[in-house]
Amino acid sequence: MAIESKNPLNNEVVKTFSEEPDELILEKLENAHTTYKNWKQTSFSERSTLMKKAAEVLRNNKEKYAGLMTLEMGKAKREAISEVEKCARCCDYYADNAEEFLSNQKLEVPDGKAYIAYDPIGPVLAVMPWNFPLWQVFRFAAPNLMAGNVGLLKHASNVPQCAKAIEEVFVEAGFPTGAFQTLIISSSKVNMILDDERVVAATLTGSEYAGSKVAERAGKNLKKTVLELGGSDPFIVLEDADIEEAAKTGAKARMINNGQSCIAAKRFILHKNIADDFLEKFKAEFEKLKIGDPDDDDNDYGPMAREDLADELLEQVNKSVDKGAKILIGGKRMDREGAFFEPTILTDVKPGMPAYEEELFGPVAIVIIAESNADAVRIVNDSRFGLGGSLWSQNIEEAQKLVRQVESGAVYINKLMASHPAVPFGGIKMSGYGRELSHLGIREFMNEKTIWIA
Ligand code: NAP
Repeated sequence: MAIESKNPLNNEVVKTFSEEPDELILEKLENAHTTYKNWKQTSFSERSTLMKKAAEVLRNNKEKYAGLMTLEMGKAKREAISEVEKCARCCDYYADNAEEFLSNQKLEVPDGKAYIAYDPIGPVLAVMPWNFPLWQVFRFAAPNLMAGNVGLLKHASNVPQCAKAIEEVFVEAGFPTGAFQTLIISSSKVNMILDDERVVAATLTGSEYAGSKVAERAGKNLKKTVLELGGSDPFIVLEDADIEEAAKTGAKARMINNGQSCIAAKRFILHKNIADDFLEKFKAEFEKLKIGDPDDDDNDYGPMAREDLADELLEQVNKSVDKGAKILIGGKRMDREGAFFEPTILTDVKPGMPAYEEELFGPVAIVIIAESNADAVRIVNDSRFGLGGSLWSQNIEEAQKLVRQVESGAVYINKLMASHPAVPFGGIKMSGYGRELSHLGIREFMNEKTIWIA
């Protein structure tokens, strides 16, 4: 099966790759296995030098790598360049901190001396999505390579050029060729890799469906997984919030990456006393957005990543409207070539509508009115997902109490929800399990070895 690099701006196929044959996959697994045996013996300082080099390669080629993202999935050039820079910061962060994060942890024991030592475990498979084609991969690769593991990447089928570019970064930085390898394969080959005893664990970022399939097969093989799945993150605005600031940040939070972010604010849960004021300002922010060619710096956003995704989103919107939701702005595909979708706000969203029950992975904000703070928390938790969220209130003490009742992996107060190398990232419920980034992320695929000396 051919794997296509297709520009969502005009649906032109720009490059086609043949899927790698089984013999080549097996060769790469063997390369990962043998490289690991040497790589795990290297010192933190050797790994750190190479990881700093990887950061340099990213910075020196940021236009090129950003261009590939814009080409393959329509990310606005400005956001693409920031993404490359963020990957470089992540490489630096783990180059600087991995040794400390994996230093021995002393244990209090009744006799003798005991501690936890962190040993790498081997080749880890990363199954990744297209929405942040570089960032999702670097936040896996930087900690794991620093920890002494090696990586195998099965990237989303619509970003093969990005997938190859990531391998190129590590090769150019001087890592051994088996330390990080890209496999150009369809998802049907993932089981074969999970069944191979040389691969010891897997991480997947993507949909619930793909996550459950990978976890099922890994579980059958008794291999650990980390799952970073979908979300329908709440953006809660209480009556004492700074409405101007909340509306501005809310629009940005919904529209990041043209709405195609797992932690984009998706459900706007508004206290009834400020709902009208917020919506007026929020709508004004949407009206300002410039949508067009993502390569053009004047534009805020480009097309969605694929035609089928834009059509799927339209179906979710239409079905919700059929069930009583109202369109405040947008609501349809743009009348032009490419996978464009109008920035949209849906109000009167109720249980039973796709907009309430499902993840809307595109530029559509949904609005739900809460009767009180307690009602807002009830609505937030009335969701299968639990990834992130943000809460807006000037009463920080009260806000901190409320966020403890929110069922999610993170809640930011008066702040745009975004990932950062120093901050743990991950979900609960149907948003997955395990954590990436920070000291927690680097410890996910380690043998936490107990050592007790008499
Ligand atoms: P997806 O369709 O689930 O694909 C993700 C990856 O899984 C791709 O590499 C895909 O390969 C692979 N895959 C699909 N079905 C598979 C199967 N049966 N077995 C093994 N691998 C399989 O998701 P997506 O459309 O790329 O990404 C969007 C989703 O990712 C959204 O739900 C979003 O919220 C979530 N996401 C979560 C996070 C997070 O950190 N929590 C971050 C970003 C995105 P193919 O492309 O070849 O099908």
